[in-house]
Amino acid sequence: MSHTALARKYRPRRFADLIGQMHVATGLAGAVAKNRVAHGYLLTGPRGTGKTTAARILAMALNCERRDRGASDGEPCGECESCRRVWAGSANLDVVEIDAASNRGVDDARELRQRAMYAASGPDRYKVYIIDEAHMLTREAWNALLKILEEPPSRVVFVFATTDPQKIANTASAVLSRLQRFDFRNIGPKAIVDRLREVAAAEELTAEDDALALIARIARGGMRDALSMFDQIVVFGDGAVTTSGVHEALGLIDDDMYGELLTMVAERRTTDVFGYVARLVEQGADLTEFVGGTGEILRALMLKILGGNPEGLTESLKGVIDRVAAELSQGDLLRMLKLLQESETSIRRSPNTRLHVETLLLQWTMLDRTVEIAQVLEAVRAGGASPGPPVSPAPPTQSPPRTARRSPGPSGGQREPSRTAPPGPEPQAAPADDPPRAAGPPTLEGLQAAWRTVLEGIGRKNPILRETLSQARPSALADGVVSIEVAGGELQIEGLMRNKSVVQDALAGYFGTATGVEFTAGAEHLPAPKPEPRRQTQDADREDRLRAYRGQDPALDAVVDALDLELLE
Ligand SMILES: [Zn+2]
Repeated sequence: MSHTALARKYRPRRFADLIGQMHVATGLAGAVAKNRVAHGYLLTGPRGTGKTTAARILAMALNCERRDRGASDGEPCGECESCRRVWAGSANLDVVEIDAASNRGVDDARELRQRAMYAASGPDRYKVYIIDEAHMLTREAWNALLKILEEPPSRVVFVFATTDPQKIANTASAVLSRLQRFDFRNIGPKAIVDRLREVAAAEELTAEDDALALIARIARGGMRDALSMFDQIVVFGDGAVTTSGVHEALGLIDDDMYGELLTMVAERRTTDVFGYVARLVEQGADLTEFVGGTGEILRALMLKILGGNPEGLTESLKGVIDRVAAELSQGDLLRMLKLLQESETSIRRSPNTRLHVETLLLQWTMLDRTVEIAQVLEAVRAGGASPGPPVSPAPPTQSPPRTARRSPGPSGGQREPSRTAPPGPEPQAAPADDPPRAAGPPTLEGLQAAWRTVLEGIGRKNPILRETLSQARPSALADGVVSIEVAGGELQIEGLMRNKSVVQDALAGYFGTATGVEFTAGAEHLPAPKPEPRRQTQDADREDRLRAYRGQDPALDAVVDALDLELLE
């Protein structure tokens, strides 16, 4: 059996057999039955939904040798010599099929015009031109056609089929207004499965329901595609149509992989994303196809959560959806779908599909997660501060924000600074960029007065550190140790402790002598007191500061954008 044998063998011969296009079938059959056939038709719709087939059935019906016999329902008999010739697309004086994709020059249009002048081969016959891929016709060709349609010869019918009616509207609106238009719809998965089952029965083939559902899903509304896939699988699987056969023949991604993905997202296992995508690639999966399949499953999952009953799913996929439905909320799904929509175009167009898919899956596994800015910064620094999505040091994966917080010290009280890095005899070497120096002996007042200048020096080394310290101020100086009171509480202190040596260097530079530093959480004497500095999502002040952070560090900006993170101070 040849590759397209089934698609061809089971192509409809009657309007009533057009699946999922009842409105078209009724309209065209009615026109034939009432002898009110127009001179021009435009059939639009997705590929493989039956446009060309409908055009051929129309041509059959108009030229059927038994047309006037029996009940006049407008259907062709499908069996007379004329019907069989038209249906088979074999040479026929009265039915001319033109593929505009390959016949689009002016010459063809002229020829078409001349040929249209010839009447049909008999007084009771119609000349039917079927022009496929009509949106490919040139403006000149359309102009020639317009002249014909302005004064149409009797018993001449033009049927234009296209997937892109908008393009015709742009180049040939004058022609368009003279055509009767029928819009073909995508065929639902259930209708496709039913049809495939009929074909399997007629061919005495065994076919698993799941296999048929799978084919219907991939065909995405196109019956022709569904039938030729079915055919391919029959050939491949030695006559039986099984789910594993479908997977093998079409190189599909296993349902289990989708199940694994959804579980990974539900459990927020960000770290597993890279390994997962690597396995997809190893299995030879088409990542664009994968993303498309994921979209279908998310939609089905959404329907399920909303209490609907998604159709056309394989049993194993239904199992996956039932299992995961409880773990993902409507909000999760909406956000996932939104993120998917946003990245679909870039995934299809980008030469680096894998990176885009990884980024998308990372975003999914980080849904609703907030990431502490310090951690992001740390990760960015560890990653060499290169802008772009961080690949290895994905910040929130290693240590989720909440658990990363050490148990806070006495709340609001003085925090015992770490003594692991005592001031000691630090090198006196002044930093190269000429920091400010204290005029006399170290005093707290002197330091407070010069604080802004000291911060400028720190900012030249580390702008983000300066930003953090601008929310702090020196509050004590004793035994060569400066206490710095910090507005942001534990979190800020942790961040500062990691940069302690930078601060110490700056202070040593300022005082001209080794100086220790400790950070304390304070509520008083602060430049910008914040009542509850931890998490105030609507706080404009916080927004400003985050903007400042982001502006100062392009790497951070890139990370935040790439991962759609919500920053938490
Ligand atoms: Zn016939």
